[in-house]
Amino acid sequence: MAIKFYSHGACREVTGSKHFLDIDGRLLQVDCGMFQGRREESYRKNRQMPFDAKAVHSLILTHAHFDHSGALPILVKNGFDGNIHATSATRDITQIILLDSAHIQQKDYEFIQEKSKKYPEREMTVYDPLYNAEEAVQPLRHFVTVDYRRKFHPLDGVTAEFFDAGHILGAATVHLTLPGGLNIGFSGDLGREGLPIIRDPDVLPPMDYLVLEGTYGDRLHKSIGMAGEELAELIHKADARRSKILIPAFTIERTQELIYIIHTLQQEGRVPKLPIFIDSPMAVNATAIFKIHPECFDEETVRRFISVNVDPFGFENISYVVSSVESKKINDFQGPAIIISASGMAESGRILHHLIQHIENPDNIIAIVGFMAENTLGRRLAERAKEVKIFGRPYLLKAEIATLNAFSAHADYAETIAWLKRHDLQRLKKIFLVHGEDAALENLQRELLGIGIPAVEIVEYGAVHELN
Ligand SMILES: [Zn+2]
Repeated sequence: MAIKFYSHGACREVTGSKHFLDIDGRLLQVDCGMFQGRREESYRKNRQMPFDAKAVHSLILTHAHFDHSGALPILVKNGFDGNIHATSATRDITQIILLDSAHIQQKDYEFIQEKSKKYPEREMTVYDPLYNAEEAVQPLRHFVTVDYRRKFHPLDGVTAEFFDAGHILGAATVHLTLPGGLNIGFSGDLGREGLPIIRDPDVLPPMDYLVLEGTYGDRLHKSIGMAGEELAELIHKADARRSKILIPAFTIERTQELIYIIHTLQQEGRVPKLPIFIDSPMAVNATAIFKIHPECFDEETVRRFISVNVDPFGFENISYVVSSVESKKINDFQGPAIIISASGMAESGRILHHLIQHIENPDNIIAIVGFMAENTLGRRLAERAKEVKIFGRPYLLKAEIATLNAFSAHADYAETIAWLKRHDLQRLKKIFLVHGEDAALENLQRELLGIGIPAVEIVEYGAVHELN
């Protein structure tokens, strides 16, 4: 029996997760994420898959995030004809993410095409969309959904089981038993204890090998419990000032976490009930998916809401805004309010209109609740720039900026190690590190060796490891 492991993505980087087990010539893929980065490089890396999609027999999808699921339509387009195994919440969220991506790609394409016609001297390259909406739907036909802790067989002779990753709704870590009895685990994206709504990361059965993510391998987060305290303080401030709180937030998970935390603060009588607007059609769709997957909820959510027949995401002072007419009406709203809108990094979407409306009033608050990449408006806001440009026009940044550091869906290195220590590690031969930048992976490697893990290797793109 020859078993090999290698990766074609998320090697010394955080996007494009694609891992492979070659089991006597049969290929099992784990995740099929999109590379994200500079336009030209990501287009090239995403378009040309360095492996034969037809040769992949079966796929396991750990969770719906775009950097794990976004290249599924390309895989199917290139001839993949196997099953995609995932939890049913992952399948449902993946559908939203893939369709949204097709839509964004089409918009981008039209925008660049128009620009290149207008400024031919710039010699811009126009890249076709990698897939359209019709193609984005095709992977959904391959899904076989399995709940947590139900054994399934992605290949003959291979037994797999999903465990809670504590990362986003539906996210799983995977434990595999391969022919010959070897056990390997994939962390997917490892979440954190205490995140609202979803259960904490589970402990996996004993493993010989573990493929572990290291996104925050060199960082320590504030405890998630702080998020409620910090939000409560902002809500009181806005109430006293009769002003607005604007929150650019990712539509999946972060938006629902915010709603959940505010709802519980209200239930406990710790904050006044300010009007809350969830202004993003995608966030509305994503929240609907949360509502139909109570099987993913943690004990607290079941106790507080499900068992007493209360909707965690619906209450009297929250409005979900779909149409752009309704969205514009929020501008006329007088008095204190909370506006949660996309995009998460304030690069596009309705949050821009709200920023224009409120950014120059020092009484208003802009809350930063997520990672802001370089060269995004969100980063400029987080860094408290004096002036920012929105739709090409300069605005003075006078609103108060509040950074809430407690929000993160990834474990930091101390949380990763605490999670690992709960396992039976007697059989563990090696940990493979993926999904992180150099400094993070190198620090995590040192920390893991420090607690006595016998071998820890940072996975290089395409490098083949024999497992035995
Ligand atoms: Zn993720």
